[in-house]
Amino acid sequence: MLGDNIHFLLQPRSIAIVGVSTKPGKIGYLLLENILQGEYPGKVYPIHPSASEILGLKVYPSIHSVPEEIDAALISVPAKMVPQMAEECGKKGVKGLIVITSGFGEVGEHDLENQLMDIAHQYNMRVLGPNVVGILSNGDRLNASFIAPLPLPGKVSMISQSGALLAALNLASHSYRAGFEKLISVGNMADIDFADVIGWLNQDEGTHCIALYAEEIKDGKRFIEAAGKVSKPIIALKAGVSKHGAAAAASHTGSLAGTAKVYSAVFEKAGVIQATGLGNLFNRSLALSLQAPMKGDHLAIVTNGGGVGVLSADAAEHFGVPVQFMPEDLQEELRQFLPPFASTKNPVDLTGMAGPDWYLPSLRKTLSHPWVDGLVVLFTEGAGHDPVEIAKTIRRAVDESGVNNKPVTASFIGGDRSEKAMKWLVEHGIPAYNVPEEAIDALAGLHECAKLKKGMAFSGEIYSNGKTETALAIIQKARSENRTVLSEIEAHQVFASYQLPVAQMNLATSEEDAVKIAREINYPVAMKIVSPDILHKSDAGGVKVNIQDDVGVREAYHSVIENAKAYKPSARIQGVMIQEMAQSGLEIILGSVNDPAFGPAIMFGMGGIFVEVLRDVTFKIAPLTLEQSNQMLDEIRGAALLDGVRGEAPRDRQALAEVLFRYSSLVYDLAEEISESDANPAFVYEEGQGVRIVDARILLNSNK
Ligand code: ADP
Ligand code: MG
Repeated sequence: MLGDNIHFLLQPRSIAIVGVSTKPGKIGYLLLENILQGEYPGKVYPIHPSASEILGLKVYPSIHSVPEEIDAALISVPAKMVPQMAEECGKKGVKGLIVITSGFGEVGEHDLENQLMDIAHQYNMRVLGPNVVGILSNGDRLNASFIAPLPLPGKVSMISQSGALLAALNLASHSYRAGFEKLISVGNMADIDFADVIGWLNQDEGTHCIALYAEEIKDGKRFIEAAGKVSKPIIALKAGVSKHGAAAAASHTGSLAGTAKVYSAVFEKAGVIQATGLGNLFNRSLALSLQAPMKGDHLAIVTNGGGVGVLSADAAEHFGVPVQFMPEDLQEELRQFLPPFASTKNPVDLTGMAGPDWYLPSLRKTLSHPWVDGLVVLFTEGAGHDPVEIAKTIRRAVDESGVNNKPVTASFIGGDRSEKAMKWLVEHGIPAYNVPEEAIDALAGLHECAKLKKGMAFSGEIYSNGKTETALAIIQKARSENRTVLSEIEAHQVFASYQLPVAQMNLATSEEDAVKIAREINYPVAMKIVSPDILHKSDAGGVKVNIQDDVGVREAYHSVIENAKAYKPSARIQGVMIQEMAQSGLEIILGSVNDPAFGPAIMFGMGGIFVEVLRDVTFKIAPLTLEQSNQMLDEIRGAALLDGVRGEAPRDRQALAEVLFRYSSLVYDLAEEISESDANPAFVYEEGQGVRIVDARILLNSNK
């Protein structure tokens, strides 16, 4: 099977270098030089048509002339020659190619890339690249790349889509005190992509945390599935999350989605922690590779400086792990040996006089108390105690506590001695940072890790009572009329087929009709223009609400049509919708966008006319369990509005969660058809009173 060969490629026992150079400094020379400098224990076969020896190694004129088996070939010949070399490797039985050469898909040379892949498939070879820096592995003493030396050793393995970044990270590993087990450059991902490598790294002993730098995830569903199966923490830095991608979308949801929010939803679904930047990726991955996830919410801070203690408490709130007072029994224990002027509340302030003798019992007792789920140790360097002694005390306290399932991070603020102390700590398994915020953020990363894993373990049911056939029939009718926008009435009907609470309504095509429908529905009613050419009806003067009687209906019938014509003379007008007037309630927006890579994502947020200004929305990948639907309600800034503020009664959260649950199943089941949709607004009433959707929009995929 093709899949098995990935192992030989990522952990080769023998390597050929196709395109080795005799000139120092050239990539083809560096490749060999680096392999040798890294002290790779496997066999190395340089291939060069005329040279007989390079760097003391016997050179072979062609891949055929190598007498032994070859696991991987590093290819660094001009792009046009790559397919031919690949063919020769295939004939020789090489199991995988690391194609360093650039000039393929990334510059529009897709045919050349396809040609390479055809050959690879024909000979069952896996391909890393093209356009990669290579593979660096401390565990295998393998530097199959043109950058050197091997990174500072660590337990993080990094997969990067950018070669230049990987090269820089390799060097930066020292200044961040954050080492790597492996650095794997995936380049164009013509074959091996993130999903393949994370799957493989899950079984790699030296890797305790997987870090990704991603510009684009092409096969999104495969990524989610692969990441979901990985037991090790994964952290990702996604580049390109600015507004750019959100432009020119037709619906509210489209313009609110942007890449950032959809990717965040994807990472959540996949159980992947998101890094906010490069420094953050370093800091968090270091902690994730050395410490256990933080399983509860109780963070303890122990410090010798009040100021940094307060700063840390601020940071803790900012990063989502707010500090609470320690339980009384723990405080009492600490008081036994701390002086009266020390604070035992949290942060525990040992004061400036604290040395190992105060740190040791405080840390040991704090960490082993059942209330505490994670610990941050701070030290501000002064003239007194040696930071290295404090570092050793921290390690000793953790060991003596016997606790190994709660995370500990540290920060030493000071000069060279603090630097040395932190280096010692990291080398002894405790992540340490230059500033307290980073130590807190690292712990917050471990907290997120535990939360994500818990969320993944929960597998609830998906709503299954939707009438997909009914919805499809409505969509087919629109398609038969060459439409990719459903009328509002059709959109409401599709929503209703998944038991979503839509307001009662009907289409009127004459004044008499309008009166008749209004009487059937019962006054008061709302009236709206129905036109495929008008998306935002209010803008066109096409909405009248709270109409009380027949006279009002007659009047409104003409005025909405006239307004619409004045607004857009070319608009095709199908009639006027008469709709039950819904009581006003808390206005929310629901939406969906169908991402080409990841499938449909669901949006929920505060609605009303300010929705695009406030952008208080959250996304999740469909379909949702009822539990996830409930979680979504708490993810927006305005979440407290659902609980009732300023004397208002709490809103019907249960009904709202149920609506999200059904809606997510609708857009998931109909992902082939629906590209975007929204309900804007829906009103949420008091507890027990439910939800009402009064405006529905559905756009169909146009490429069907
Ligand atoms: P559009 O978004 O196309 O401008 P809507 O159908 O959303 O048009 O109507 C505009 C506003 O009118 C809504 O945001 C809502 O506040 C109010 N509204 C519309 N229909 C109703 C209704 N049936 N009951 C109560 N209020 C309504
Ligand atoms: Mg609306």
